Amino acid sequence: LPEGISKLPIALEQLLFELQKLPTIGQKSAQRLAFHLLQRREKDARSLSAALIRVAEEIRSCKRCFYLAEDTLCPICKDAEIGRRDATSLCVVEQPLDVLAIERTGAFRGVYHILEGALSPLKGINTEDIRIAELLRRLGEEAISEVILATNPNVEGEATGMYLARLIQKQGTKVSRLAYGLPMGTHLEYTDAVTLARALSGRSSL
Ligand SMILES: [Zn+2]
Repeated sequence: LPEGISKLPIALEQLLFELQKLPTIGQKSAQRLAFHLLQRREKDARSLSAALIRVAEEIRSCKRCFYLAEDTLCPICKDAEIGRRDATSLCVVEQPLDVLAIERTGAFRGVYHILEGALSPLKGINTEDIRIAELLRRLGEEAISEVILATNPNVEGEATGMYLARLIQKQGTKVSRLAYGLPMGTHLEYTDAVTLARALSGRSSL
């Protein structure tokens, strides 16, 4: 911490410093949060810090799919074990938050595999840096008949999806990629060419 440049108590500076490490939290947001916390009672501060410590200590990644878990397996893999989800249909995503997004749709009842990133040679993220080997091992060991690639619709996500599609096809498993629809409420004339081309190639028959 830089000393002597601030008129704030050191404890508060420390809190601001920690808050600003969080994504989307800039200096002003950190100050707003810190002053809000200051005004709350000590009991609230204790329960917040206890929750933070509990998450850090108790949440790990699922041994099978790398989603968030409190035990060896996550709740989704546990449900698949007892037949409450379709273990033959596997959806591949980049991050745990993507699972939440797909779960919100209610349109998928299979299981997941979290890559924990996407291929990006520019950022030095190569095939061995994300959970590709683990995915291929699952395809060999589990009764998975269909893989749905749901990596992000950006350069890294597309490259990762194409790379995985080739590998999975080689193993003889059916593989599909999310179709990119057009955002609702938009006009074709305002849609960029890449999105429109993707939507065209992913069109479905009626
Ligand atoms: Zn799992």
